[in-house]
Amino acid sequence: MPELPEVETMVRTLAGALPGRRIVRAALSHDNLLDGVSASALLGGLRGATIRAVQRRAKHALIATDRRLLAIQPGMSGALLLYRRPLSAAERRYAVLRCRLDDGAWLVYRDVRRIGTIRWLDAAAWQRYAARLGPEPLDPALSAGDFADRLRRSRSAIKKVLMDQRVVVGVGNIYANEALWAAKIHPARPASTVSRERLGRLLDQVRTILAAAIASDGTSFRDYVTATGEPGGFQELVQVYGRAGDPCPRCGRKIRMTHDIDQRSTFWCAFCQR
Ligand SMILES: [Zn+2]
Repeated sequence: MPELPEVETMVRTLAGALPGRRIVRAALSHDNLLDGVSASALLGGLRGATIRAVQRRAKHALIATDRRLLAIQPGMSGALLLYRRPLSAAERRYAVLRCRLDDGAWLVYRDVRRIGTIRWLDAAAWQRYAARLGPEPLDPALSAGDFADRLRRSRSAIKKVLMDQRVVVGVGNIYANEALWAAKIHPARPASTVSRERLGRLLDQVRTILAAAIASDGTSFRDYVTATGEPGGFQELVQVYGRAGDPCPRCGRKIRMTHDIDQRSTFWCAFCQR
């Protein structure tokens, strides 16, 4: 958390507000989130930069400026927020990066636990970084055949492979649990043994679930809020995640939970997902 839908939700809001805006000043409260850049280089670069575009790649929010790319990977409790008023003391407390814009608004990266990552990259450095990322699941150019080929290369549990950002990006724990349940695939099954047909169904379910989560402005289980500070709504729509002991919405048997597959919480129906 936040996963692809949450970052997409933040980015869509910011993409309507930031392009063309100039950053007039910037402040950083903690430099332990910086990767490959010093606080002074980041703040000096941001000051006076004009924002060109806001996009998402995998779980990164990319704020392209006329200088470099501000690439923020929100941690568990990370969020990009836009304030059109001064921040309260409580809001300033968790604001790791604050950028004052030329229209008076504040672009803030808030991170209560401070485990996100902030990078300040030129085009070549971003290309090198992005080369390690798998394809976007919502990209129509990703065919069912490509998706199946990528997953079937591994003998690891399919849930782990589905969440491996080198295989396909943006499918975190909540959405992996939901998609495997919807596609009726046991989460511990070796990926290499799942049929291509069933993997095609899995890709369809990943897409349906991510699109529904984006349409609900993401999932708020912990601290996630949208760029306007609202909680997301997808937690109302989850079928199995966080529902151990509840009846499976498909067959009525009890949803099970384990940490044995990948140390993360895995929820599944032993009857539907065999
Ligand atoms: Zn079931």
